[in-house]
Amino acid sequence: MNKTGLPKDYISNAQLNAYKKCPQFYKRKYVLQENETSLFKPEWLIGRSFHSYAKNFIMQKYLMKEEPTESFKRFFFYKNFLEAIEKKEIMVDPLIDDQIKANVSNANFNLDFETLEEIAPLLLLDDERDLLFTGYTEISSAGKSLKRPPFVQIYDNLIEKFEQNICNVILEQDEVLQVEQNTRFNFNRYGKEYTLYGIPDLVLKRENKIIVPDWKTTSKSPNADNIKTFQDRIYSYGIFQTHGSLPLFQYAYFSYSKAKAEVSFNLYQIDYQDVSDVEIDIFEIIKGIKNNVFPKYNYQNWFCSSSWCPFYSSCQEKEDKNQVERIA
Ligand code: SF4
Repeated sequence: MNKTGLPKDYISNAQLNAYKKCPQFYKRKYVLQENETSLFKPEWLIGRSFHSYAKNFIMQKYLMKEEPTESFKRFFFYKNFLEAIEKKEIMVDPLIDDQIKANVSNANFNLDFETLEEIAPLLLLDDERDLLFTGYTEISSAGKSLKRPPFVQIYDNLIEKFEQNICNVILEQDEVLQVEQNTRFNFNRYGKEYTLYGIPDLVLKRENKIIVPDWKTTSKSPNADNIKTFQDRIYSYGIFQTHGSLPLFQYAYFSYSKAKAEVSFNLYQIDYQDVSDVEIDIFEIIKGIKNNVFPKYNYQNWFCSSSWCPFYSSCQEKEDKNQVERIA
């Protein structure tokens, strides 16, 4: 703990969201820094690769004024794939040639794209290779075998959709102010200074208005009722503090079907008029952290499950000692 009584010298958007999702999760991740069970979902590889691509695309096209090449597009899928292997999120086939393994670990991501594309699928066991690179078979509830596309194809289609629709998000007159840039600012509460930290995907200036687009990739259909998040209120508050006016939030949703790899695009926006209560919300969370208030909650939440929470087994291992006993 540092002088503010928090595990880090700042409170980030990720930390605030973690506490809101489950205070016990926050404690295990940031206070105890417990080892996390490695959970890998191909959807995460898609989301991370898409975000790295979008960031680099905007820097290249709007800041350096260069058109991205075909190999540049796929590169981010392979880069994130190799990073997931390095973090041991994706298991490498234990029987693959040592030379290939050495090539990849020494590559430091500097292998030429063609070699990378050739080597990457060879690293995996059959099931993972099919899922990510060659396509797989799914058995329907009626017992039918259905051929499904690989995730790399979904990624390609997402990138295509992104490029087709980027002109709906960044208009010609827009000025690109920030692309995934760390943003910090300080606020005072009860005589102590706190630093709020976050990384918005993109910040634009359109005439006198600040626009904050946010990229979302999802295998579910977006729903206008669920668009508003705690995160965007925090970013709006942060933008207000740093730029002096409230931003227009734009959510660019790229939804894909795992069955056919088809992608659709939807754009939503929220024009925040007032975020004066955000500081109170943030401070309520800070108070909870400083007072060691870390209940386990949201048992009914999708997140509280072995497939999503990396602390599930250690957190849930205690047996329920309050047994129900029939006495009459
Ligand atoms: S298992 Fe459930 S209660 Fe425990 S940390 Fe994870 S989300 Fe929270």
